Amino acid sequence: MHFKLHHLVAFIIPTVIPYALDVDLEALPWDHLIELLSSEADNFHFASQDAWADQCVPIFQREGFPVWNRPPYKRFLEHGSNYELIEQSNGLCADIFSCAWKHCEFHHPDEEIDEDKWNLPYVFVHPLSVSDITASITFAREHGIGMSVKATGHNYVGASTDKDSLMLNMRRYTKYSSTSLLQCSGVTLRKTAPRKERVTTEELRSWACTVAKSRNTKAVLRVG
Ligand SMILES: Cc1cc2nc3c(=O)[nH]c(=O)nc-3n(C[C@H](O)[C@H](O)[C@H](O)COP(=O)(O)OP(=O)(O)OC[C@H]3O[C@@H](n4cnc5c(N)ncnc54)[C@H](O)[C@@H]3O)c2cc1C
Repeated sequence: MHFKLHHLVAFIIPTVIPYALDVDLEALPWDHLIELLSSEADNFHFASQDAWADQCVPIFQREGFPVWNRPPYKRFLEHGSNYELIEQSNGLCADIFSCAWKHCEFHHPDEEIDEDKWNLPYVFVHPLSVSDITASITFAREHGIGMSVKATGHNYVGASTDKDSLMLNMRRYTKYSSTSLLQCSGVTLRKTAPRKERVTTEELRSWACTVAKSRNTKAVLRVG
């Protein structure tokens, strides 16, 4: 038998694309997943473009949708706080604003935007426990849908969002540190970060505590 192009195509399509491309997301038994989650509907939400527009867009609009200075000229948050973005209840905001769309290509939110240009998930779960994570992965696998994971949404290429995926937004997941805990009581707080190549432990400690206190959190965990 001679090798023909359609033999290759017939092999690649089922091998490389394991998920059904036309899953009817609306018809999936989402209730089954919700029942398995630790706090039911409270940590499960359908992702909506309207909620994204209501909560994420104004934060970037305030700055006039600043342009990132290198191609492909994404739009990002220049002066605002990443914490304001990740605290939004819709769970969808990310630092690179235009990554809400495919290839992080900017479209003005007032425009009519084709459905296939969007890159937002279909649902998102705020896991509170390991079982929330395993339930979500099992559900996605059983129904042939993709997954995305968001910590802070800080990634330059919008790696934390994917169209029509089931997103795990890790914002509310418990954060652990078994070593290097800083005690903030008695530490002199600073107004600015030490801007020099080498900083003393005492300077680092005071800065970390200042950040923690200004965010009104109990602790800051810095990795790297
Ligand atoms: C303005 C700006 C400045 C930056 N400055 C720096 C810098 O100085 N130094 C530097 O190194 N980087 C910098 N970055 C890049 C950024 O820190 C990295 O892209 C980093 O990956 C962000 O990690 P995140 O988990 O916070 O972000 P996210 O976008 O939430 O996630 C990043 C990736 O990790 C995956 N992920 C997140 N959490 C999990 C999890 N629990 N399990 C599995 N996968 C997970 C996501 O799916 C995604 O693929 C900057 C980015 C921006 C926008």
